[in-house]
Amino acid sequence: MAIAKGYAAQAASEKLTPFTFERREPNADDVVIAIKHCGVCHSDIHMVDNGWGQSLYPIVPGHEITGVVTAVGSGVTRFKEGDRVGVGCFVDSCTTCAQRDLDLEQYQPGLVLTYSGLQPGSDLPTYGGYSDHMVVKEGYVLSIPDNLPLDAAAPLLCAGITLYSPLRHWKAGPGKKVAILGMGGLGHMGVKLGHAMGAEVTVLSQSLSKREDGLKLGADHYYATSDAATFETLAGTFDLLICTVSAELDWNAYLNLLKVDGAMVVVGAPEQPVPVNAFALIPARRTLAGSMIGSIKETQEMLDFCGQHGIVAEIETIAIDQINDAYARMLKSDVRYRFVIDMATL
Ligand code: NAP
Ligand code: ZN
Repeated sequence: MAIAKGYAAQAASEKLTPFTFERREPNADDVVIAIKHCGVCHSDIHMVDNGWGQSLYPIVPGHEITGVVTAVGSGVTRFKEGDRVGVGCFVDSCTTCAQRDLDLEQYQPGLVLTYSGLQPGSDLPTYGGYSDHMVVKEGYVLSIPDNLPLDAAAPLLCAGITLYSPLRHWKAGPGKKVAILGMGGLGHMGVKLGHAMGAEVTVLSQSLSKREDGLKLGADHYYATSDAATFETLAGTFDLLICTVSAELDWNAYLNLLKVDGAMVVVGAPEQPVPVNAFALIPARRTLAGSMIGSIKETQEMLDFCGQHGIVAEIETIAIDQINDAYARMLKSDVRYRFVIDMATL
């Protein structure tokens, strides 16, 4: 066992404070990673607060992890000491089922979350990236392209793949009108990725305060959802609308922005049920769907795509002792556009 340093919440809604814990000794198929940066996802806040009722404490959040390999087990073939790597939202999965072969392992019951999951064969929680190092099976470690800096690349491991996967699945590209609802950590990655795929991208934000940024990041249009006229102007417009918001919304009003056969994809994860009127769907054969992160294979594909297009997140770097303030600011939509912890400050 090796001692690890990190930050943890000891119970629901408690502040994060310094925490020391044990990481396992590497097995033959493990990679040991010195964590350099970790992005701060809104899911970290839901999980610390036990908003989805599944948290295990103490909780060391963090699933947008980048770092450098410091050691590898004897059976590891794809990584060596010094490699620049990333870890996303899960660190193990069901390896026997057909879904693994389909590269859809994120949708299988055997998924082990990077933090607040159960360590395989134990009743201890997994501990995430707000820490100095971690030990991860080779099959769940990603390569970071050489041209991407480790700090701004960290949010690709969750925010990036969470938008890349539905954009690809619903075929965002030339001729497709894509709306991104919410210009936060996930949303701003959706703007960059959708634009790079060649789609016509519209941001739907609460106000126009981030309009200039949105257009600079690749949006073609930017509308305020606080303006009722937006819903009249854009009715029946989009092939795809990706909702990154977890607050209460008028879901029917957003469904009405889809054209015939359009899809609204839920990636933001509200803590309350979503009220939907059947007649927001039926008269235009619309789809309301969900999407969760992406497989390991698709995450590597996304990282390589970002390497080719020079895409990283817009970040605000913080020291680890600023994490509680960062959460408070995210709850006020006051972040442009992702906090990333510099782990050298631990
Ligand atoms: P974030 O950075 O806090 O962004 C959320 C955005 O939602 C805000 O920037 C804001 O955009 C908008 N918003 C906030 N409050 C709102 C309100 N009351 N009404 C309307 N819009 C509001 O969060 P994030 O890290 O992007 O995560 C967003 C959600 O996705 C979270 O629920 C998270 O748990 C979930 N998530 C899901 C997956 C998945 O696999 N499906 C993966 C990661 C995260 P504007 O200021 O532009 O309005
Ligand atoms: Zn996340």
